[in-house]
Amino acid sequence: MEPVLLVRYAEIHLKGLNRPYFERSLMKRISLALRPLPVRVVREQGRVFVFDIPEAAMDEAADKLTRVFGIHSVSPALAVEKDWDAIVSAAKLLVGRRIEGLSEASFKVIARRADKRFFMRSQDICRTLGGLLLEPFDRLRVDVHEPDFYVGVEVRQEQTFLFAEERMGAGGMPVGTNGHAMLLISGGIDSPVAGHMIAKRGVRISAVHFYSYPYTSERAREKVIELTRILSGYAGEVSLYLVPFTEIQLAIYEKCPKSETTVLMRRLMMQIAERIAQNCGAQALVTGESIGQVASQTVESLTVTNDAVSLPVFRPLIGFDKEEIVTRAKAIGSYETSILPYEDCCTVFVPQHPVTRPKLEDIRRSEALVDFAPMIETAIAATEQLLIE
Ligand code: ATP
Ligand code: MG
Repeated sequence: MEPVLLVRYAEIHLKGLNRPYFERSLMKRISLALRPLPVRVVREQGRVFVFDIPEAAMDEAADKLTRVFGIHSVSPALAVEKDWDAIVSAAKLLVGRRIEGLSEASFKVIARRADKRFFMRSQDICRTLGGLLLEPFDRLRVDVHEPDFYVGVEVRQEQTFLFAEERMGAGGMPVGTNGHAMLLISGGIDSPVAGHMIAKRGVRISAVHFYSYPYTSERAREKVIELTRILSGYAGEVSLYLVPFTEIQLAIYEKCPKSETTVLMRRLMMQIAERIAQNCGAQALVTGESIGQVASQTVESLTVTNDAVSLPVFRPLIGFDKEEIVTRAKAIGSYETSILPYEDCCTVFVPQHPVTRPKLEDIRRSEALVDFAPMIETAIAATEQLLIE
């Protein structure tokens, strides 16, 4: 009897040639998520099995896999010989653990016989095993319609797998199967959620953050690193680029119309983010913007921001209310860090009366008041790169 994790993935995207690629990526993501455990990841007929996990690490390993994109669900399972007595004792062991501390529980058995040579048919396994499980546990009853839990039995070519628990996974697609994007990450609530949503579609994420030391503190920087670390719990390793932005921000503040500072700042951030994206092979930019949330996120402002770059800009939160974003931030575990009160470079320089309907020609004219090109080069040259995992 050997403990193993049984991983289910959604097969819906798996047409033709895509399938082996998807499966290989998923297996790689599973190994990476469980590092440094030297696990053995095996694929068999629409399932992935993870062997060689020490018993004591099982629970945490299963939990980690629920955050790996591409996984539909995970079951801590037992692998046994294709022998009826072995199947029954493993089922009893799992059920005993599953109902520990419960005064009563209902269950049913669901059997799948991938190996048609096995001497019992699925229906017979369900019925016979169900009956045998009632014997030692008097708190247990069968409910075939709405059971509290089910005992899964999968008879496969080499072994039989049993489980009594199924933990829902994150869904989506394995990171790395859908290109590479550059997330503009602030210390706020929105951008980590935006990064999570894009990573969930299988996109590898790099991140860029602009800081304005000494107007922003060391702790604001630590906060962004921590948010990136939380994101990397889902997205795998993330390269974080930290760009010094003070010189540009001061130039905007001193030389351009005050009401336009935020929009100009957003355009310059986008231009630098695009340059860094191109340098590291990212094919799109990602932001946490949503329509109308602040002056710089009106339709007009977003249009003016877009004009600064030619890479596509993905804004997965575009139609979300703040409340919906907060709910997601809490669910992924970034919220508590995002609300720590350290200054962001945007908040330091916000104008009192920002334009809400900037005109492209006006903004371009204001931007031309300053020769930003050398400042952009300086900022990129002084950019620090951290690998967060
Ligand atoms: P967030 O909660 O993500 O900070 P926000 O509602 O505060 O968003 P803004 O400050 O206008 O909105 O920023 C909009 C988007 O611009 C952010 O979601 C992020 O993608 C990007 N951004 C803002 N500030 C920075 C920064 N200092 N470094 C990198 N990206 C930033
Ligand atoms: Mg912000």
